[in-house]
Amino acid sequence: MSRVVVVTGASRGIGAATASAFVQLGDTVITISRSGNSPDGVAKSLTVDVSDADALKSACDEIVAEFGPIEVLVANAGITRDGLALRMTTEQWRDVVATNLDGAFFSAQGAMSSMVKNRKGSIVFIGSVSPFLGIPGQANYAAAKAGLVGLARSLASELARRNITVNVVAPGFIDTEMTAELGSDLDTLLPRIPAGRIGQPEDIAHVVTFLASEQARYITGAVLPVDGGLGMGL
Ligand code: NDP
Repeated sequence: MSRVVVVTGASRGIGAATASAFVQLGDTVITISRSGNSPDGVAKSLTVDVSDADALKSACDEIVAEFGPIEVLVANAGITRDGLALRMTTEQWRDVVATNLDGAFFSAQGAMSSMVKNRKGSIVFIGSVSPFLGIPGQANYAAAKAGLVGLARSLASELARRNITVNVVAPGFIDTEMTAELGSDLDTLLPRIPAGRIGQPEDIAHVVTFLASEQARYITGAVLPVDGGLGMGL
């Protein structure tokens, strides 16, 4: 059965792979990004900055009016602006929190009203292993991604009796534009990953489609690491 699925940050990387995975399942997929690019097969792609609460609310209203109630939201849009905390600018801090945390909340808020009415839904936040590892230079990013865990658990409690699940997928290092600048740092990183490789966007996409499936209805408030073992036990 075709569901209405919204994926933010789906112009490339993990979001694009996730949108494609839902398209392959036969779902009606709507993507959101600043560029408006999207993979083949999506029903609509909207050009919206997720940190703009009003624009995101209008986009969700437009999606519901055109396609019906949103059943699955994947809040994936994210950026990094790394820098050591001592020299981190206010702008670096605010940009990262605005996109990764505010944007995720606004996306969930926009999608959840139709889920509540429909008494059915799945929300998946794309977090990160970063807050569990304490990576230097990522105070802004780690704080925003840690915030997603608290956000997801509060929403999971608020929405569980409405048959809405809320979970976090915490990727390790995945081969996308975000990690392209790692370059030779990858050589020092690889020995720390038990799986011996960095992940591919599809490694995340298939976990997300599982969390949004009927088989996963009893999983809520969970943080699921998908990191080749990098953050094991943290
Ligand atoms: P990419 O940089 O490849 O893609 C990021 C996506 O987010 C793009 O589609 C971009 O589209 C979109 N985006 C960024 N800012 C905004 C915004 N303000 N409004 C709307 N869309 C936005 O990154 P990844 O695919 O690697 O990352 C996806 C998610 O996974 C992020 O949340 C990231 O933090 C997380 N993650 C990634 C890891 C990795 O190793 N790659 C590890 C752990 C977590 P556009 O530029 O068109 O707006």
